[in-house]
Amino acid sequence: MIMRIDKMLSTIGFGSRKEVKALLKSGAVKIEGQIVKDSGKHVNPKEQIVTVHGEPVVYKEFIYLMLNKPPGVISATEDSMHQTVIDLLVMEDAIYEPFPVGRLDKDTEGLLLLTNDGQLSHQLLSPKKHVPKTYFAVIEGEVTNEDVVQFKEGVVLEDGYKTLPADLVILKQGISSDIEITITEGKFHQVKRMFEAVGKRVVYLQRIKMGPLSLDETLELGEYRELTEEEVDLLK
Ligand code: URA
Repeated sequence: MIMRIDKMLSTIGFGSRKEVKALLKSGAVKIEGQIVKDSGKHVNPKEQIVTVHGEPVVYKEFIYLMLNKPPGVISATEDSMHQTVIDLLVMEDAIYEPFPVGRLDKDTEGLLLLTNDGQLSHQLLSPKKHVPKTYFAVIEGEVTNEDVVQFKEGVVLEDGYKTLPADLVILKQGISSDIEITITEGKFHQVKRMFEAVGKRVVYLQRIKMGPLSLDETLELGEYRELTEEEVDLLK
């Protein structure tokens, strides 16, 4: 991968192209130990060591984050009214311009991946891939074994769409029930609409798994971390 040094440095947070130009002019930047002042100089950040004020800088093209989405925040990159998941990121991560991989409703909590890797995002969201997503939910009403059977067969939503088989596990049965559900598609408000189809209401929804990844339980609501290389490999 060959790129201009000014592009590389501004991508990883050393300021605008103009600021980076000034930084280069000041003699602070070296490629393989040689001072570089020309902003148009090309560099291979994977193979050449770049330092700024003597400190090596790491260039990465893609960023992969796991967020524990809090309620009240929307899964979008921009919104004029509401806080978005991108507003939760520190500048060093936001500069990579990640976007949410799919959406969780405003009131839904839990695992949301954010990346700027369009190809990976596309793979995870492609209806053809049937990537499983698991949710924990609290349901108003008693979830029954008949519901489990019906979800396995697919339920017909209010618009006539019949869902693919979903795996429903009852954790606590009562006038309010705790359940886990795994679906392999991502229709709008799918889990809520599936329960509406059997006359029940979701009162709390949290995504706990997406594909091979589980929500990191050490993440408080609103916290996030980078995926490890192994986790990124699992997703691919
Ligand atoms: N299903 C829903 O109803 N809402 C979500 O946020 C995710 C799945």
